[in-house]
Amino acid sequence: MARYKDAVCRLCRREGIKLYLKGERCYSEKCGITKKSAPPGQHGLSRRKLSNFGIQLREKQKTKRHYGILESQFRKYFEMADKQSGITGDNLLRILETRLDNVVYRLGFAESRPQARQMVVHGHFQVNGRKVDIPSYLVKAGDVISVKQRSKKIERLKSLAENFNGTVLNWLSADIEKLEGKIVMLPSRENVDLPIEEHLIIELYSRQ
Ligand code: SF4
Repeated sequence: MARYKDAVCRLCRREGIKLYLKGERCYSEKCGITKKSAPPGQHGLSRRKLSNFGIQLREKQKTKRHYGILESQFRKYFEMADKQSGITGDNLLRILETRLDNVVYRLGFAESRPQARQMVVHGHFQVNGRKVDIPSYLVKAGDVISVKQRSKKIERLKSLAENFNGTVLNWLSADIEKLEGKIVMLPSRENVDLPIEEHLIIELYSRQ
């Protein structure tokens, strides 16, 4: 599957916010947007006034970049959310949050979503005792996410566990000693702590 392979700090500068794509570096003075906040490119310093369409488009791009998702997959999530009962924007965010790579990140097993994605692809995680190496796998309430026995020896995972402060969002629970987490319930809108105005994304797709 195609992935974005350019320097990721450019994405933060493009969206004008921290997307936290590089783990520890994002919290340090080395953060790309702290050093240089203007959008990348020749005309970066001149931020133009955006049309309604431009505002909606930027919101979609920002959300895709938060979760590391390309357009075709994102559109599928919108269509899935639109078919579900309830508010489409809430459904969309719930779907995005329940991706396995996001859950691994939210549980504190990875420093960033891109790192979580890589760890899932490398087969370090199980869902309900069965290996799952698909980052887009959608977890359900009651699912237990655990690190595979052999992967528990990986230094990076061990040190993450040692430094983990035990705090996870309230729709999750974590047992860091066992390197295990549970989906206590599916997340609702108030559980999603990202600066996303999902109604703009819905408006964008609705006009297409
Ligand atoms: Fe974004 Fe992290 Fe790079 Fe800062 S260090 S610009 S938050 S990816």
